[in-house]
Amino acid sequence: MKDCNCIFCKIANGEIPSTTLYEDDDFRVILDMGPATRGHALLLPREHYANLFELDDALAGRALVTAKRVAARMKEALGADGFNLVQNNGEAAGQTVMHFHIHLIPRYENDQAGILWTPGSTTPEEMEEIRRLVVEN
Ligand code: 5GP
Ligand code: ZN
Repeated sequence: MKDCNCIFCKIANGEIPSTTLYEDDDFRVILDMGPATRGHALLLPREHYANLFELDDALAGRALVTAKRVAARMKEALGADGFNLVQNNGEAAGQTVMHFHIHLIPRYENDQAGILWTPGSTTPEEMEEIRRLVVEN
């Protein structure tokens, strides 16, 4: 399943060195080279899956449990005040490396990391239309 041209395959499998915070048979958690905040890390599966929709269900479950455990350790060790898990799928959603990954982003009071969005607006009709499209088709 390894993709030879994929940088995260090489990092996850140790062919390219990285600063590793955690590793097991399934995953490696590394520090991001362009951190949003101090300690921003990435959880990478060793196997290549392009995105969440390709990910094996059992591995998806283990990914979240592993992210939770590592995030808890990071939060304590780094003295973070909060924590974001971010997971982008597709270019439109900001994914730039097409190997599934979860961002582990420690947050600090007033850190100014631009992760949250400005709330938009909707209508009851639009909400009903969306519900119908997702639930009834
Ligand atoms: P995406 O935008 O795909 O959700 O996130 C990709 C992330 O990978 C970015 O935060 C970027 O800084 C990080 N990144 C890209 N290439 C490398 C690399 O070679 N090493 C490390 N440590 N991080 C990388
Ligand atoms: Zn890959």
